[in-house]
Amino acid sequence: MWSRAVVTRVQALSRTFTSSCAKPYAVPEGPWGANRAARLEMAVAYRGLDQLGLNEGVCNHLSVMAPRADGKGEAMMVFPYGLHWSEVTASNLVMVDGDAKMVEGDTEPELAASCIHLGIREVRPDAKVVMHTHQPYVTALSCLKDPRLLMCDKDVLFMGHHGVITTASTIAMAFDHLYYLERCAELQILALATQKEVELIPEAHCQPMSDVFWRDMQKYADSHFYSMYRRLRKTQPDFEL
Ligand SMILES: [Zn+2]
Repeated sequence: MWSRAVVTRVQALSRTFTSSCAKPYAVPEGPWGANRAARLEMAVAYRGLDQLGLNEGVCNHLSVMAPRADGKGEAMMVFPYGLHWSEVTASNLVMVDGDAKMVEGDTEPELAASCIHLGIREVRPDAKVVMHTHQPYVTALSCLKDPRLLMCDKDVLFMGHHGVITTASTIAMAFDHLYYLERCAELQILALATQKEVELIPEAHCQPMSDVFWRDMQKYADSHFYSMYRRLRKTQPDFEL
């Protein structure tokens, strides 16, 4: 089980972001619609990350706190154990309450999924979306004595010799984080593999770009995530079932 000290190393991404990106789907108002929207976006996250090769067998897990379809509050939505990520659809995702009891669906998630994701939310109730993967380049970095990314060591938990967990306020943003984490880790490993000295970008150059990025972060994340939504709608339209 995760210690509180370790879990709290997952840095907060609870800042409020806005985005004017139009969603590529329509749902009715109310709990059922919000539940359906979460199901659609989670199905895209699972399938999109699978398409990008960032998952591992039938392990790893993504979860979101979302309204129950019956209107009885929120529960944690996650995929049922045994499905490949390419098989996840909006309707086969399940929901468990804070005690890991099933409240939607009938196939339980992997025990580790409930333990890790519910455990994180005990100490980080603001962690609306939690994603855990063993994506290869980030996992390779996690095996180093100093696993920090040269350009980013916050908002993410590197799990030694294991993988990564990221939290975010939206599914799109968590998806975007995992994607760019992997790309950064890949570039870092490739650069270090040259055995030449890596030239870091001066802090003074990074800060202005960082400010712009943070201001429009949700817009960038939505644009990226919804492009994956449209791509999957063409190539794997059954995710919306
Ligand atoms: Zn794991």
